Amino acid sequence: MLVLKDKKDLDNKYNPAVRTSIPGPESLKLLMSQRRFESSAVTYPNNIQIAIKQAIGTYVIDMDDNTYIDFLSGAGVLSLGHNHEKLKEVAKSQLDTLSHGLDFNTPIKDEFIKAQISMLPTNMQENMKIHFCGPTGADAVETAIKMAKKHTKRGSIVSFQGGYHGCTNGAMSLTGLVSPKEDVQNNMAGVHFFPFAYCLRCPLGLDKNSCDTNCANYFTNSLDDPNGGVEKPAAIILEIVQGEGGSIVAPKEFIQKIRKYTKDNDILMIVDEVQTGCGRTGTWFAFEQYDIEPDIIVVSKGVSGIGFPMSFIMYNTSIRNWSKGSHIGTFRGNQLAFATGAEAVNIFRSEKILENVNIQSAIIFNKLKSELKNCSIIGEIRGIGLMIGIEVIDSNTLKRSQALARAIQKECLINGLIIETGGRNDSVLRLLPPLNINATDVSLAINILCESINQIALNEKQTKDSAEMYYEI
Ligand code: PMP
Repeated sequence: MLVLKDKKDLDNKYNPAVRTSIPGPESLKLLMSQRRFESSAVTYPNNIQIAIKQAIGTYVIDMDDNTYIDFLSGAGVLSLGHNHEKLKEVAKSQLDTLSHGLDFNTPIKDEFIKAQISMLPTNMQENMKIHFCGPTGADAVETAIKMAKKHTKRGSIVSFQGGYHGCTNGAMSLTGLVSPKEDVQNNMAGVHFFPFAYCLRCPLGLDKNSCDTNCANYFTNSLDDPNGGVEKPAAIILEIVQGEGGSIVAPKEFIQKIRKYTKDNDILMIVDEVQTGCGRTGTWFAFEQYDIEPDIIVVSKGVSGIGFPMSFIMYNTSIRNWSKGSHIGTFRGNQLAFATGAEAVNIFRSEKILENVNIQSAIIFNKLKSELKNCSIIGEIRGIGLMIGIEVIDSNTLKRSQALARAIQKECLINGLIIETGGRNDSVLRLLPPLNINATDVSLAINILCESINQIALNEKQTKDSAEMYYEI
């Protein structure tokens, strides 16, 4: 039985090893208890049917001592893996000093803020301030839209199809996914959706060859059109790489056209970097790779490095109308998150984590593209940094296939790899490993992934072949 407690265990090499059926008997007990006592809105354990006993680094161990490589990382939160030694140390020592501090300044908060500002592109550092809000990504999205409305004195917001911004009323209203909004009356008014550049399946139905980022042109033309039906918004909000939407990377021209239009027309640009931020895409923020400067940046998930809840917005100091008490909240002073977040920045620098993201990313893309190039159920391999998606399709219809994506996810789990699915109809396999992952674990994980995909592709082919034979008889 693996029990991971000591520092010395960190030096051991773990291997994915699944010895029971999934869920194993001990996990099953907790899953049953969860089903009995917890809300039916629980999601992850529906498809990843385990209960967790312990985790370390890139590995998760379930209640039956099955060991998995974790390519979910707490939905992209655990940027330095589970229970990072140094982060644990600073958190423990911070507990002896102060754990909760409202919005009083403290030495560790000051250090955290300066560390965060120092990660911005140099030319932005002078002009940006931080505002802390409630601890979730959705809280920060709500803050950003309120700030934009107050600043511009306008009431509407433009969002993009396929985007995900959270579950609170405003954030949910800005989210593309329709199902959580169904049967919920009075979503936030004044939200307009425009197409996002999902080029594999152009939202305008255009051929790639005739593309002039017409989705961005559609946005600018609609807003320019006096009969276009859309009043000038306070802001637009978007993810540079749509995460929950299926790891869809916006082309540079798309983002740049939108930025230019918003700038020229005094509309604020909010980039939601909740998932892309803090190094996930190989730069600290994804927008850095697009040569743009947003007005407001939404930050959460990976910022504490070890999963302590924390979110904030960074905003350009030209934004006025944000006076005392404009937006408050009790949980703005998580000193543990400040301590680990400040230390995480040090670790990113000293251990060259961003370089690691780019190196491991290139290894993953090369391997996936070579191993899966003839795989009939793969529609696209895409992403950036360590935010990677594989769109799974039906080999006959070429339509997205949720059933096959689920089957692959399950096969991966049986073989010792945890991955999430996302995108339209949950048809995209999503890879979100810790950003400090090493080449050995990458190689183990990608082997499992490719073998699992090939196995499911083979099963699909055999099922289709035997169905055809059946009809022939
Ligand atoms: N924005 C983006 C881009 C996200 O990916 C998420 C969460 N997946 C959120 C906002 C909402 O964050 P939270 O779940 O912490 O409210």
